[in-house]
Amino acid sequence: MEDQLFRTIMGSFATGVTVITTQVDDEIHGMTANAFMSVSLQPKLVAISIGEKAKMLGYINSSKKFAINILAANQKDLSKQFAGQLNSDEVVAFETYQGQPIIKNSLAVISCELFNQLDAGDHTVFIGRVTGLKHEPQEPLLFFGGKYQEIKE
Ligand code: FAD
Repeated sequence: MEDQLFRTIMGSFATGVTVITTQVDDEIHGMTANAFMSVSLQPKLVAISIGEKAKMLGYINSSKKFAINILAANQKDLSKQFAGQLNSDEVVAFETYQGQPIIKNSLAVISCELFNQLDAGDHTVFIGRVTGLKHEPQEPLLFFGGKYQEIKE
């Protein structure tokens, strides 16, 4: 099987875009991720998948909690920032929710404590138990075919 075909097919599954945030000691860390899914309603569980090279892997292993910030259409630059694709020194505005750092003005925030984790090839799947939900309805940022997209009427 070809790696490129696998990437192309996975990239043809349209998703939203999130930034995973967590805090270790006094430092706030963020990482862009679209490998996010809802897992269970009772109890409320969600999953994210983090690559073995990402620093976020070690941060979540330390903090045992994280927040998933679902980005709005006007937050594309934040997605790039937390994917390491912007050479910007711009200070990101965080606020605190359920004792966790979150990104201001996101479409939604899901705060979680670590429920379980699974090593899966070159990624680790973290399952989070939901501890809080915050929603500010607005248009979502989308990712499809390796590009950012927005909903078109
Ligand atoms: P770093 O490289 O340290 O951080 C990433 C960037 O965030 C850096 O530029 C850093 O300056 C910035 N940053 C971190 N904390 C702060 C802060 N407090 N204030 C301001 N800036 C800060 N990878 C996955 O493993 N799983 C996925 O599901 C996934 N989905 C992705 C989806 C999209 C649309 C994109 C574009 C990338 C995705 N990636 C995913 C790749 C991932 O975002 C990058 O590999 C990322 O750079 C890894 O970050 P890191 O944890 O190694 O941390």
